Amino acid sequence: KVRVRFAPSPTGRLHVGGARTAIDNWAFARANGGDFILRIEDTDPERSTEENVQVILNAMKWLGLDWDEGPEVGGEAGPYFQTQRMDTYRDALERLQERGAVYPCFCSKEALDAKRAKAEAEEGGYAGYDRTCRDLDPDEAAARIEAGEPHVWRLKVPLDHGPIEFEDAVYGPMSFPADVMDDMIVVRSDGSPTYNFAVVCDDANMGITHVIRGDDHLSNTPRQILIYEALGYDIPTFAHLSMILGPDGKKLSKRHGAASVEEFAERGYLPDAMVNFLALLGWSLDGETTLIGRDVLCREFSLERVTKKDAVFDETKLDWMNGQYIKEMGAKAWVEAASPWLARAFAGVDAATPLDDAQAAEAARDLAARPAFYEALYPLVCERLTRLDEATGKLSYMFWGPDVRALDEKSVNKVLLKEGARADEAVTACRSVLADESLPWECEPLQEACRAKGEELGLKPKLLFQPLRVAVCGNMVSPPLFESIELLPREDVLARIDAVVD
Ligand code: GLU
Repeated sequence: KVRVRFAPSPTGRLHVGGARTAIDNWAFARANGGDFILRIEDTDPERSTEENVQVILNAMKWLGLDWDEGPEVGGEAGPYFQTQRMDTYRDALERLQERGAVYPCFCSKEALDAKRAKAEAEEGGYAGYDRTCRDLDPDEAAARIEAGEPHVWRLKVPLDHGPIEFEDAVYGPMSFPADVMDDMIVVRSDGSPTYNFAVVCDDANMGITHVIRGDDHLSNTPRQILIYEALGYDIPTFAHLSMILGPDGKKLSKRHGAASVEEFAERGYLPDAMVNFLALLGWSLDGETTLIGRDVLCREFSLERVTKKDAVFDETKLDWMNGQYIKEMGAKAWVEAASPWLARAFAGVDAATPLDDAQAAEAARDLAARPAFYEALYPLVCERLTRLDEATGKLSYMFWGPDVRALDEKSVNKVLLKEGARADEAVTACRSVLADESLPWECEPLQEACRAKGEELGLKPKLLFQPLRVAVCGNMVSPPLFESIELLPREDVLARIDAVVD
């Protein structure tokens, strides 16, 4: 059975590169009826925090990447935090000791640093640890350990080891010379495992069949293979994912703007769009399909279609894709997803302003009191949004109270002032129609009646409706006018008109 893992270190937020690795592992597990395991690699005490663990879990949940084993859900191969697996690393060290595959090294850091500095100054340079302690007499070594002398444990890399070869599922056949491999440290003097050792122990003990991870780990792989061999464990299949680059061709990072999943969520991207977009960084279904839902991804994902070419993070494409998902998601889901930004429209602040608790509570009450109104906003904007946060600006006019209006100055100048009396005439004409209580308060009849009235007065539709649009919606480029009017109370619409006519 396929078992894969995503193994973030909780040293920061979940970066989009990490998210892409998580998505590939998740989709690969789903496509193969396998297990997706989440393992927290928190062995770096200085940089790992409880808060970052939570942030990562939240980002995974937001993306909808459910894990079969890991924090919160548990599982047979747990615990899923490296700091809780120390006894397993001790057991593995014992196994290596029994197999004669490691030796204690008593060289002090100072002594090693001095040797390194000297070697670097000389021709030939530093060739790694010189194996001083490798051939110590075992009894002497045991006595020194017994006496409490500080020591690390190093892997005894076989001196006759041929090249370290493996078939990478993405990069193809790989080969690394073994004779340049250091006798790497597996356990430090404080008893803690090194990164490569802990990863191998965990992957082996958790029965991981495929290690799918960023290609920044490619150089670790031959080292890890040596550890697998020393332990006598089966070596999993490795698949290294190419880098994600910014538009400038440099590795994607903070410099390029938003870099964490959390930031994308805060900017109004949808999890479905994010997953679709990130899955396509380095993988393709057929080389052309761009909109790929989770169901298809989870059925069709394969390592064969992962490319070695670096992928470029194209935010314009992400925006387009997000817009497509907004258009498809339906009113109910949209209201739920967009509620933080609809709440800001309700509170009369801009999209970037967080609400205080009282404002948020009031906005939530409004939403709960009239869900149909909120859902009716969706058709007004669903084709005009690339991000959810744009809902605040685009729909603020739907929440204006009787005396809170924010007319766009440019629109006022261009439409109301420039046209002057004719604009007044137009809105007054429309007002008389909209005030007629015998007409149903519905978009079509209202629009028709206004149009007829305009014709009667010899006003062209543009001249008739532009001023009305500015008066009711605040600018010239609002969502559909009469669809908006229908959703507002009649007296509010009339008051808005009255406010612009002198
Ligand atoms: N904890 C490692 C990282 O965050 C991942 C190790 C691995 O996937 O093997 O880069």
